[in-house]
Amino acid sequence: MKKQVPIVRHISEVTPVPCPCGESRRIITRADAAALGLHVTDLGGARKHYHRVTTEVYHILEGKGQIELDGTVYEVRPGTTIYIPAGVKHRAIGSLKAVIATVPPFDATDEYVCDEKP
Ligand SMILES: [Zn+2]
Repeated sequence: MKKQVPIVRHISEVTPVPCPCGESRRIITRADAAALGLHVTDLGGARKHYHRVTTEVYHILEGKGQIELDGTVYEVRPGTTIYIPAGVKHRAIGSLKAVIATVPPFDATDEYVCDEKP
């Protein structure tokens, strides 16, 4: 395994990429050989999905909305932290900006989009 090294990185150094949740700046990724991934994501129009392996922690920075976790909807606002174990179906509702930590680092092959109801 690659040796872990300290990382100091500004968000402006990271190009945003589209994701099922909106648009994400993936600040710490698998490429860093880090123990976790860290993204800052503008959540909007998120599609319900789950991960088989990855645990996610969202911390809401901006906006107003809800988080749906296995069918239960929770009100969230700046300062709310949401712990999402692997296997829990989730999506953000509304327009939110969040820091998202992922353990292990984010892997697109561990993202399973659920069938949407009309
Ligand atoms: Zn997710």
